[in-house]
Amino acid sequence: MTSLKIYNTYNNKKEDYVPIHSNKIGMYVCGPTVYDFPHIGNARPLVVFDILYRVLIKFFNKYSVNYVRNITDIDDKIIERANELKISIKDLTEQVTEVFLSDCKYLNCLSPNYQPRATDHIKEMILMIEQLIAKKFAYVKDGNVYFEVSKFNDYGKLSNKKPKDLISGARVEVSELKKNPLDFVLWKPSKVNEPSWDSPWGKGRPGWHLECSAMSEKYLGNTFDFHCGGLDLIFPHHENEIAQSVCSNSTNFFAKYWLHNGYVTVNGKKMSKSDGNFISIQDLKQNYNGQIVRLAILGSHYRQPLDWNLKILDTNKKILEGWYEYYTGEHAELDDEFLNILLDDLNTPQFITHLHNLFSKVKTGDENARIKFNSALQFLGLFNESKEKFYASKKVSHLDKAEVERLIQLRNAARKSKDFGVADKIREDLEKNGIIIEDLNDTTTWKYK
Ligand SMILES: [Zn+2]
Repeated sequence: MTSLKIYNTYNNKKEDYVPIHSNKIGMYVCGPTVYDFPHIGNARPLVVFDILYRVLIKFFNKYSVNYVRNITDIDDKIIERANELKISIKDLTEQVTEVFLSDCKYLNCLSPNYQPRATDHIKEMILMIEQLIAKKFAYVKDGNVYFEVSKFNDYGKLSNKKPKDLISGARVEVSELKKNPLDFVLWKPSKVNEPSWDSPWGKGRPGWHLECSAMSEKYLGNTFDFHCGGLDLIFPHHENEIAQSVCSNSTNFFAKYWLHNGYVTVNGKKMSKSDGNFISIQDLKQNYNGQIVRLAILGSHYRQPLDWNLKILDTNKKILEGWYEYYTGEHAELDDEFLNILLDDLNTPQFITHLHNLFSKVKTGDENARIKFNSALQFLGLFNESKEKFYASKKVSHLDKAEVERLIQLRNAARKSKDFGVADKIREDLEKNGIIIEDLNDTTTWKYK
């Protein structure tokens, strides 16, 4: 294959990617709102768009690839959470940002070229609002500034919906100040004790959608190649980003290709804290090497839904442990067969199937196959640590949770019948597998060493 084919949400079809410029490529991924620890639903866009970045660097090696991912550090959710926790907004956003960055490292994602924070770009946002007001795409009402959706003919094109259908199909904030329910906020006044910045419309803060328009323009220009994010961001977030950027800069388009990853469910259900099926990346870090999580995410095509469960983790753990037996640190160029698979809309499941096929040759002692295999895994962001390190990692116990629980029950039964030799033997075996157990009154707890 001589081109990158990518499914463009804007046109709802797979297209040949043609760069806008002859020497540079711009890519923007909507980053986290730093109010809570990232979860498995946040991990997916991090990993799948990291693959896009790696493919762009590899396939367009004469171009400079500029990857930007923002950090939203001012938002209603942040203010609410900081109040709940009784800590300052600064402490909350700094703490969560730190965890987010360490999660990215754990998942072995390459760092973007820029990770701009919203609060460092208020000036750019105010400038953009002024342009929108001057061009009559926005209006001021009691210290609020709204974007007037009816002025932008292409509104709804990304979602492939007419504005009236968007109103009925989604939650749209109702306000008497708006001319039309779909109009969205660009600037709003801050309440007492909320962070605020001076502006021509009084002290206040920017709307969320505006942040991405202002920051992508600063680092990538008025138009750029790729805009990526989760499916849930299409409306209203991305629809609003397009409206703001196209109207303030008077361009024909904003991003040329729109990529959206599918939803993540946990055990077949929508993730929610109250249902107890909320999985943070920090939770996974306790028990699994990051490569296992990465491989499990890449096992589904990025546009398909992904159902997360223990089985998917344990299956991928076993696969990776088997593959690591044949690890070599050798580097070679990625084989064209593998690259071609990724050039077809980042088909990682097929890439992994191809790895399994090649693995059968690797096991027969075929040296060429082994080098090809190692290089392909490294390209995918796996095999990024030595064999010793991988096996020594406490997250790679050969015992899974169910097995540990079973052994602890056996040990408790042995202790009850005063069979202390057996009980001690089980404790030693567990320790050899990196499991520490502790007895307190009648309960036994355990953790990884
Ligand atoms: Zn965004």
